[in-house]
Parts: sequence; structure tokens; C-alpha cells
Amino acid sequence: MPHPTATAPSVPHPKPAPLPAAADVVIIGGGVIGASIAFHLAEAAAGRILLLERDTPASGSSGKPLGGVRAQFSDPLNIRLGLRSLAAWHDFARRPGADIGLHSVGYLFLLGSEAERDTFAAGVELQNSYGVPSRLLTPAAARELCPYVDPAPLVAAAYSPGDGYATPRAAVDGYLRAARRLGATVRTRCPVTAIDTEDGHIRAVRTPHGAVRTTTVVCCAGAWSAEVGALAGVTLPVTPLRRQIAFTGPLDPRPPRIPFTLDYASTLYFHNDGAGGLLLGLSDPAQQPGYEREFTREWLVPFRAAAARRAPALAALPVTGGWAGLYEQTPDRNALIGEAPHPGRFLYATGFSGHGFLQAPAVGEIVRDLVLGREPFLDPGPLSAARFDGDHAARPEAHII
Ligand SMILES: Cc1cc2nc3c(=O)[nH]c(=O)nc-3n(C[C@H](O)[C@H](O)[C@H](O)COP(=O)(O)OP(=O)(O)OC[C@H]3O[C@@H](n4cnc5c(N)ncnc54)[C@H](O)[C@@H]3O)c2cc1C
Repeated sequence: MPHPTATAPSVPHPKPAPLPAAADVVIIGGGVIGASIAFHLAEAAAGRILLLERDTPASGSSGKPLGGVRAQFSDPLNIRLGLRSLAAWHDFARRPGADIGLHSVGYLFLLGSEAERDTFAAGVELQNSYGVPSRLLTPAAARELCPYVDPAPLVAAAYSPGDGYATPRAAVDGYLRAARRLGATVRTRCPVTAIDTEDGHIRAVRTPHGAVRTTTVVCCAGAWSAEVGALAGVTLPVTPLRRQIAFTGPLDPRPPRIPFTLDYASTLYFHNDGAGGLLLGLSDPAQQPGYEREFTREWLVPFRAAAARRAPALAALPVTGGWAGLYEQTPDRNALIGEAPHPGRFLYATGFSGHGFLQAPAVGEIVRDLVLGREPFLDPGPLSAARFDGDHAARPEAHII
């Protein structure tokens, strides 16, 4: 049985809008990143905004039933993107105006070695300098927050109470409803199949339903971004990698309210599922890159082995269903945000490598400003895809699983 939020969109999708002949900005991809950018551009009255989604909104990775939101990172850019986005998630009911089921239960990283503790101690110091209220905890204090945890093999834990989780699909719906209300056009079931350029400038995008004249394209195609970039001759080093999660279904007794709990070494994670059970996750080290998105029960074998080491009670819990999606991985597991040098006005926001939901509000703001030629609140230059050409240093993010 899939999780209730995994199957049903929170609102029915309207009939596909007619395809306009021209647009000032074409956004490719109707996940949380494209939806946020559409909203921010429409709110800024940035002209005729058209979002093209080849399937339905949130049919890619943003269809994940519940997504973690946090500001605990090792890279200052990610801390700032996470913090700015947390504020926007808290304000979402007012702007753009939707309930995203935000639960501020905190994020609890379990640390099993001195080296992990040192990495997270440095992270906490940096995060605190930006105003993130994270701190290191003893193993016993970690268990008090999350009774499933076995403290014996732990060295420490890191915790930030402002983090939590919300419903990505509700965020996509909320952004897109507001974007439409503000004049944007959202066209579903409309894949972009070609991007026409001339003399280094974008002229049009083509779809099976016709062409749209435009000079500006934003690629937000998630795990499919390398293919979309190639349509314009732009290299976007994004690789799809399947990630799976499972649900216990309602448990008796009902689980206590726990933080979003992650074991750093094994990548095991779990939290309340909002329906009286738990959501269980693990990054399977044997998973090979590819577009496969089937949930497989074999994945439970490494999950249960990791659970037995950190939270033994989880290894015995029933699993009623699961969900599989794609991480959109880059070589250093940091996002790609910027504008290609050629053709002009080909922008991209992709490759979030497992933290795209939590950064979506801040990324929407930044891309709006890049499109409008304004100075963004943060210089995304270090996240340019050019860093892999040797122009900038790659910047690995340590606090990801
Ligand atoms: C199991 C799992 C757990 C995760 N947990 C978290 C978490 O806790 N916190 C977090 O922040 N992130 C998490 N993520 C990552 C997060 O889901 C993604 O980073 C985020 O959803 C990416 O959003 P997106 O809009 O870039 O991509 P997507 O949501 O994948 O959207 C891209 C869209 O582009 C469309 N598209 C592709 N090609 C074309 C084309 N040619 N024309 C038109 N449309 C096209 C696709 O149909 C798709 O809808 C998780 C991911 C997985 C798989």
C-alpha cells in the first residue's frame, strides 16, 4: 500500500493550458524547482512566463511523499540556501498561500566515530555563525529525542530544532496555483523536444504540440537535465540515481513524535510519516545510476542491516509499501545554478543531489534575479556548471546522504 500522499495530488490538475506562440521565459520542468521559479517570476511581473512539464506537476523527484527541510550543512552556501528556504516554508501559508504540512521536528544526525563528530562540530560552529540553532548532543540526549536510537555505539549526535519535513507535492501545487493566479501559463503533458538557437541566441523551444518563440529558457528538468541541456548544446553533469523509501503503515502503539533521524555513516534515516507510522529510508551503496523508478523489496535487506546497528526496533517493523525516485546527482553533490555562457539566456537550476526540495524557495528567488538582471541575495557563481571545466573549484558538501 503506497503512502496516501504518494499517489493523490492535493488538488486535481486543471486541463492542459493551450500552448502560447511566444513567451518571455520558458521554464522546462514542473517539479518544485520549476514551480518555485515560475511563482517568483510571475510575482515579479517578469513578462509572459510559461512552464512546460512533459507529464504532470511533481511527477519527477518532487513527488516524494514527505521531504526533509533543514539548514544543517557543511557548505556556507547550502547553509544560507537552507536557512532562507526554511523561513519561506514557515511563511508558505501566507506567500504564496498553501498548507504544505510543515512539521518542525528537528533533524538529528547520529555520529558513530570521532572523525564524524569532528566534521559535524565544525559544521555546527559554521551554522551557528549564520544563526542556525544547531548543537552537538551526547548519545544519551539523542536517545531522549528519539527512543528508537541505540546510544551504545554512538560517539555523538548533531541536532537542530528548526529543521523538519513537509509535503513536496503540496508545495508544487501551491507554487503553481499562485503562479497561474499571477498570470503564468503552466502547460502539462508537453515535453520540450528541441531548443532552436541562432547566432548564439535562443529563438524557440519545440514540443509535439507546437513551437514557442522565446529568448530565455530555464532548465529545471531534475534528473533529466543532462538531456535537456544537450538540446541547447549545454553540458549539465547530472546523473540519475534511484533512491527508495518505505512506509510501515499505522503502527500500534503509535510512534512518538521524533526528529528526522539520520545515521551519517550508513545513510539510514527515518521519521514520522504523518499517518501514524514511520517513513524509512536508506541510500543503497549497490545502486547503479539509471532511470529505474520501481520500488523493490530487496532494498529492505541493506535497510534492515543498517537499522539493526543503530535503531534495532526498526529492523523488525512491518513494511506496507514504498516509493522510489531519482536523486539528480552532480560529481560533487552540490547544485548547478547559473547561466550558460553559450547560448545566451540558457539558465539552469538542477543537480540538487538529494536536497532540492529544501532549497527550492531560495533557488526560485535567485533564478528570478538572474533572469531579471538583479543582484541575488547570494552569489550563485560558485555553483555554476563551469566549476567542472576547471574554471572554479568543485565544492563537495559533507552533510548529505
Ligand atoms: C527518495 C528521495 C528522498 C529525497 N529526500 C529529500 C529530502 O528529504 N529533502 C530534500 O530537499 N530533497 C530530497 N530529495 C531530493 C528532491 O526530491 C529533489 O532534489 C527535488 O525534488 C528536485 O526537484 P526538481 O524540480 O529539480 O526535479 P523534479 O521534481 O524531478 O522535476 C523535474 C521535472 O522535469 C520534467 N521534465 C523532464 N524532462 C522534460 C522535458 N524535456 N520537457 C518538459 N519537462 C521535462 C519531469 O517530468 C519532472 O517533472 C529526495 C529525493 C528522493 C528520490
